[in-house]
Amino acid sequence: MLNELVQTRISRQLKAAFEAAAQREGRPASEILRLLITEWMERLHSDLLKGEKGGFKTLEAGSEQGTAPTQAVSPVMCWRCHGRIDWRMELGPQGYCPHCGAFIDLRVR
Ligand SMILES: [Zn+2]
Repeated sequence: MLNELVQTRISRQLKAAFEAAAQREGRPASEILRLLITEWMERLHSDLLKGEKGGFKTLEAGSEQGTAPTQAVSPVMCWRCHGRIDWRMELGPQGYCPHCGAFIDLRVR
């Protein structure tokens, strides 16, 4: 099944843009593909992961004041646009800035 995924055709333009974006982030394209799949699975089909969390360790939320007790949210500043993000910790340490779309990895910052 994954072999079919790898062989899925995308347009030449999309492929070039994807590879350029990967290069901009200094990651192999396959790594980004893995992150996208993991994020999508966790967001929409987390029941199928059976608590595996896609192999990622979710960071523990610090004891922030003023956050809702039901949701672990950590204030994060985007490295690119410096926009403030209320990071939802249950979605994992990686994601995209809602303001500018920059990729953010809390584990390396
Ligand atoms: Zn941003």
